[in-house]
Amino acid sequence: MMHIVMFSAGAGSWAAAKRVADHAGPDNLRLLFTDTLMEDPDAYRFLLEGAADVFDIRLSDKMKIPSWSEFPDFRDRSNWKGYLLELRREATRHIPGLVWLMDGRDPWEIFFDERFLGNSRRDPCSKILKRRAADRWLVQNCDPRDTTCYVGIDFTEAHRFDDGRGGGLGPRRASEGWRYEAPLCSEPYLAKWNIMEMIRAANLTAPRLYSLGFSHNNCHGFCVKAGHAHYRLLHQKLPEVYAYHERKEQKIRAFLGKDVSILADRRNDGRKKPLTLLAFRKRIEDSPDESIDENDYGGCGCFVDQS
Ligand code: SF4
Repeated sequence: MMHIVMFSAGAGSWAAAKRVADHAGPDNLRLLFTDTLMEDPDAYRFLLEGAADVFDIRLSDKMKIPSWSEFPDFRDRSNWKGYLLELRREATRHIPGLVWLMDGRDPWEIFFDERFLGNSRRDPCSKILKRRAADRWLVQNCDPRDTTCYVGIDFTEAHRFDDGRGGGLGPRRASEGWRYEAPLCSEPYLAKWNIMEMIRAANLTAPRLYSLGFSHNNCHGFCVKAGHAHYRLLHQKLPEVYAYHERKEQKIRAFLGKDVSILADRRNDGRKKPLTLLAFRKRIEDSPDESIDENDYGGCGCFVDQS
């Protein structure tokens, strides 16, 4: 039986991989990482340290694991991608159970190619760079009759895995012939702080985005599914990342010739209107006391959603 963990560089998928490794052992275990080429540098650091820990490999004896400050500037896309290619080559040589897939494009390149800006309802970025890439690898490398796949969804979001009415990732993938499990939805249940304890106990450092207040470790704090509160946090904590995406959004609006945006505005009449990152930044800079929906973080579910 092959055991394939969808390994995202997040704390949840690391904890799920630890559970799978505990009961299945390392030999038939693969950690499948689908790279958007736009992760936080510290997510790549945790990816490598976390994968080495799952396989009980002393990676530091074999290669230098870069700290986030040693990565090139993510805005220099050519240099950044070249650096990641080399990092992948070196890492997968020393961690053979880590499968690191790259389409070669990042979410913005997908939006331009598809002539569509992702939003909270449709996410061509994760559809192409994550779900399709993982599916293609599974079909080419695994027999569904002899494979179990695992995701890091925990018990607080168990409905996303199986809503009890035939919906959710597990039943959907089962209808397509693949067996999926969510180890963190089983007892003993682990809260997020339990997983952080596990990370510390394993002598690892959790990805820095969590300590900055982000709820997930995807796409360097960016996500087309995120909401107002999330983008305010991104502007506060990683203003250079916010500025990069603000410029990209302006470019795709000009390219498409359409009034499209990642965020939506429902002020005044409650109707949904485009709200660009440029306009949202000006709003929070000009009127810092103006209230926004403090709970509007949005819901990133790269492997769960199906648009
Ligand atoms: S985290 Fe958000 S922006 Fe990144 S690939 Fe997933 S859905 Fe797209």
